[in-house]
Amino acid sequence: MGKLETPDWIKEGFDSKADYEKAHGSSKKKKVSEEKTFKVRKCPECGSYNVNVVLSEQEGSDDEEDLESSKKVVGEWECKKCKWTGRDVEEDELTEDEFMKYLDEKGEEVA
Ligand SMILES: [Zn+2]
Repeated sequence: MGKLETPDWIKEGFDSKADYEKAHGSSKKKKVSEEKTFKVRKCPECGSYNVNVVLSEQEGSDDEEDLESSKKVVGEWECKKCKWTGRDVEEDELTEDEFMKYLDEKGEEVA
């Protein structure tokens, strides 16, 4: 084995060692998709993005029996539009543009 082996970058046909390292460096890194996407939750019933996860049971009522029917379950999702609740909420991936639109719409509806 001689010490003067042909460098890998020459064997692999790169123009320079820098190019070789660049190519190998970037292929080793996890490739992040170029387009940024945002995950948003969507109501499986009506398709509205106006869903929220229930963080706490509803308070503010003294009528405990009355509360029974409208009791929300912590950790479930609820749709503000059609009143759907459940765990199997849908997920959408939006591009940045779509996400901005989504925020606009959500902002209007929440207000
Ligand atoms: Zn809905």
